[in-house]
Amino acid sequence: MSAHRVIYRLVPESHEDIYGYLARVAARNHLAGLHSILSEVLGVRQAAISFSDLPALADFCRLYPEEMVNLSGIVRKTAHGALAWQVCGQWVSKEPFIATRRAKICPLCLRDADFVRGEWTLNFYTACAHHAVTLNNHCPRCRRAIPWNRRAARYCPCGCDLAMTDAPSAQPHSLVIAELIAHQCGQRVPLKPYPCISFLEHENLAALSLDGLCKTLWFLGHCLCELGRYSVGHGRVKPMPSAADAIILNALHAIEDWPRRFGELIEVSKHRAFAERAGPLLEQLLGPVHKYLQRELQDDELKFVRVAYEQHLRNMWRSFGSRHRRLRTNRQLELDLGQ
Ligand SMILES: [Zn+2]
Ligand SMILES: [Zn+2]
Repeated sequence: MSAHRVIYRLVPESHEDIYGYLARVAARNHLAGLHSILSEVLGVRQAAISFSDLPALADFCRLYPEEMVNLSGIVRKTAHGALAWQVCGQWVSKEPFIATRRAKICPLCLRDADFVRGEWTLNFYTACAHHAVTLNNHCPRCRRAIPWNRRAARYCPCGCDLAMTDAPSAQPHSLVIAELIAHQCGQRVPLKPYPCISFLEHENLAALSLDGLCKTLWFLGHCLCELGRYSVGHGRVKPMPSAADAIILNALHAIEDWPRRFGELIEVSKHRAFAERAGPLLEQLLGPVHKYLQRELQDDELKFVRVAYEQHLRNMWRSFGSRHRRLRTNRQLELDLGQ
């Protein structure tokens, strides 16, 4: 452990981002910035902070480790060696869902209280659920991306007071997802209905965990649209804020008139996949989507997506089963679908 400790102790806010917290500690104690704390305590300037780092960091900040365990942005290794990120007391399991090195802010939240909210690091959180405004990721004065490692949550390095910048009204699709995320993060926000989605589907989405919601958006808004255009890098691309918005729109479009529209999307993708790919039938048809579904959407809470998907696979199988029934790959498909 470091021989030094800070002079002034700051108590973390509920679900505060851990990097934002360290930046506040650094500023209050006249240290150069959060990197100086990481260098001093962990010996590296840039680090993913895991639970094993907390005792040393807490000691340096004059906290008990228990006071730090709920901070957002802490990372852990799962039993399978994959990484997971804590956000607002929940675990998010995929890198494309989180952007710890990109900043977004709600000016109105910063006016209320000057700290970085954990949910702002979620890529699908593109609007503020409390103020119904779009989150900013660029400084309006210097036009640069707001740095995640800035010295104060409220100020861009150019001196611009981010809390006093304009906050455009949020788009309805961003807002409905932001409300669902805030709801999952245990915040009190009313869940307003979204015109194109039925009450039942909205309830289904509201019942999902944070990770389940992100997976559903990723599956319906990204994987499904990428069907037939699959490349090796699939699934590793982090959506930029504009891409996150597009993924949300696609996903809500797929959920509209559930599951009919979803079935239509799979049909369209099926034709594209046939035109562009060769290989085993199932792979040709729905390779990446199917794999993703098998691997990631196995939780009970995601049953509504899975059931609709499997139903459509069955329908598709029936629709061209007679022509191909003798091929081994099709028999495999039959087996895969339990028919
Ligand atoms: Zn806000
Ligand atoms: Zn600036």
